[in-house]
Amino acid sequence: MESLQPRAMTATATAQGPAHGQGPTQGPAHGRGRPCVITRRATFSASHRYWLPELSPEDNQARFGPCSLAPGHGHNYTLIVAMGGPLDGDGMVLNLSEVKHAIRAEVTAQLDFRYLNETWPEFDLSRPEGRLPTTEALCQAIWTRLAPKLPLVGLRLHETDTLWVDLLAPGSTPTPMEAFLSIRTHFAAAHRLARPELSQGENEAIYGKCARPHGHGHNYLLDVTVRGPIDARTGMVCDLAALQQLVDDLVVEPFDHTFLNKDVEHFAATVPTAENIALHIADLLSAPIAATGARLHKVRLQESPNNAAEVFAETPQLEMVPAALEALVAG
Ligand SMILES: [Zn+2]
Ligand SMILES: [Zn+2]
Repeated sequence: MESLQPRAMTATATAQGPAHGQGPTQGPAHGRGRPCVITRRATFSASHRYWLPELSPEDNQARFGPCSLAPGHGHNYTLIVAMGGPLDGDGMVLNLSEVKHAIRAEVTAQLDFRYLNETWPEFDLSRPEGRLPTTEALCQAIWTRLAPKLPLVGLRLHETDTLWVDLLAPGSTPTPMEAFLSIRTHFAAAHRLARPELSQGENEAIYGKCARPHGHGHNYLLDVTVRGPIDARTGMVCDLAALQQLVDDLVVEPFDHTFLNKDVEHFAATVPTAENIALHIADLLSAPIAATGARLHKVRLQESPNNAAEVFAETPQLEMVPAALEALVAG
């Protein structure tokens, strides 16, 4: 199919005649020309195996663990496609049925119920430029297929609920060179919000019920996002198992089933608000993650379905702006 450009950008968009509710001599209506980002979700199921022919069976097993086992294993993938552009006279960035068709033709019809290692040439490991079909590499391969068809601003690919990758529109280069890899984990902990130099009454005036003397607990959801270039052969931003181990060793194990104020030294002197916990986690993880070759991008700590704190570790804290990838999904 032809490339889908945002309709308001094309000459044909104005040649289509008056849009709904707009007389032939009327000016802009329905936001025509104003920019907007739209998202479309698609799903597919596929299998893969992490196995590099140049490595011995022992080395494959050591590097990729159970992902190296024959004949492979599968995932139910969820893809979120974010597209941007000005609205046309019909109040749309793009016609959704055309978007749906492009995603089906270029991606899901080619991948659904397939063995990824044998689908696209990017994953043909007998070629020197072949790479493992990791979530990062798969997301980038999808980008190269959709970018000529749709005005992409971002892609998110979920392998599971606890592992996903984001790519963002790179500006002038045709394919994003870096990926954002996120992992989700959780821990349960209690805390009390109170400053020791204040009276109980003063603390309750600031922190409300959270200042009650014996604390309360949360099931915290922790999302850690790292960014980096995708390795040309392994298809990975970093060693996923090593990243998960760092988060487990430095955060989950010391924080889980604790009373944070008393059991985690940092919070003896720092009020363990969600914000302070997220900042402390970012401080704990930054250097060890840098040692793996990736960079810590963001820590998101969700205390309850109603509140979360996000720390963007790479930007000066007073200039924190949520990255464009936030347009991709809610929550
Ligand atoms: Zn897998
Ligand atoms: Zn609380």
